[in-house]
Amino acid sequence: MNTILIRGASLLGESAGDIVIANGVISEVGKTSTTAEVVIDATGLVALPGLVDLHTHLREPGGDSAETILTGSRAAAQGGFTAVHAMANTNPVADTAGIVETIFDRGLEVGLVEVRPIGAVTRGLGGEQLADIGGMARSRAKVTVFSDDGKCVGDSVLMRRALEYVSTFGGVVAQHAQDPRLTIDAQMNEGSVSAELGLAGWPRVAEESIIARDVLLAESVGARLHVCHVSTAGSVDVIRWAKKRGIAVTAEVTPHHLLLTDESVRGYSPLFKVNPPLRTATDVEALRAAVADGTIDIVATDHAPHPSSTKDCTWADASFGMVGLESALPIVQHALVDTGLVTWADVARFLSVTPASIGSVSGYDAPLRVGSPANVTLVDPSHRSVWGPDRLAGKSNNTPYADRELPGRIVHTLFRGVPTVMDGAVTDVNEMRNE
Ligand SMILES: [Zn+2]
Repeated sequence: MNTILIRGASLLGESAGDIVIANGVISEVGKTSTTAEVVIDATGLVALPGLVDLHTHLREPGGDSAETILTGSRAAAQGGFTAVHAMANTNPVADTAGIVETIFDRGLEVGLVEVRPIGAVTRGLGGEQLADIGGMARSRAKVTVFSDDGKCVGDSVLMRRALEYVSTFGGVVAQHAQDPRLTIDAQMNEGSVSAELGLAGWPRVAEESIIARDVLLAESVGARLHVCHVSTAGSVDVIRWAKKRGIAVTAEVTPHHLLLTDESVRGYSPLFKVNPPLRTATDVEALRAAVADGTIDIVATDHAPHPSSTKDCTWADASFGMVGLESALPIVQHALVDTGLVTWADVARFLSVTPASIGSVSGYDAPLRVGSPANVTLVDPSHRSVWGPDRLAGKSNNTPYADRELPGRIVHTLFRGVPTVMDGAVTDVNEMRNE
């Protein structure tokens, strides 16, 4: 399959045009009379650059009852992603060159998306000694993003040293901002709902105080900081202040924090148990506004698959996290595009161009332009359907959106010119590459 013609797509949500792909690269954009071996009729579909996730838990090695690199890559493709960053909290932890290379190689072998391993900041996520950051950076996986996600780098000395170290080679530390002492046994957002339900509260200051400390640490050593899954209006204020001051900070928000609130916890369904917790309608509003005005740079999924044994149980016993790759674009459309807060061109920026730039993933700086690798996502924005397990392509079913009507459907995904999703279904790319 050497040439593909995508006919009549709305390019970045704007005027309709064709996209011609030759040998994995976009060779023409606009009105064309070129013919191709494969023609995709994209009338009514919006063409976006392939989506890039900076925050995915693929669970391999060690968590294959929840997800593997293969099943997580399928979930990513189904959601319109062509690159994902795999978080380091696997078993063993991705804290050495050997482990990140194993993950990187398995991603290449599966071939559905670009899998970029994230390296741990501290050895074994133990928070006591720095991991082999230099070794991971120099490895075949060329790691540039480092995170202890799932845990916060709480020690200020270690955090400063990590920031300083990664800045020597253009890397970034992605912090899971959660003061551990302020969140001992915390179960949900601290507020009137937690008081009513009798669940231990998770105060906003546990997140905001760490972000405030970290932006000042980043400033003091002239390093770049990325803040994972911002969940409160106060965090947005701190980040806005830091950016105004010229501090090199970027921030992400998850789709679920752009839609759901702690009111969802009233039914005690563990599907709504997530870290950081769902906050309030005021926070959701502030987070949406922050994406629209650029204070929050990107949307990242925090795709956190769990087997039913750790979700189909009591609230207290359940694991934190929800799957998010397949539903990310529908939630973004629902919360931000259909509400008029952002355009599809903005979506291309915060779900592809900017996350690729933060993660140093090449090929995403000129979306849908001639000469770029053909990473393309075609979405039908007029589609509406009730969300269900049939929309999930990964191994776990812990979605909080079951039975909710959502807009948008990813119809086709192309990864370097190879269709990874056709008519809404994940393809066997290795078979296709051999054709
Ligand atoms: Zn996290």
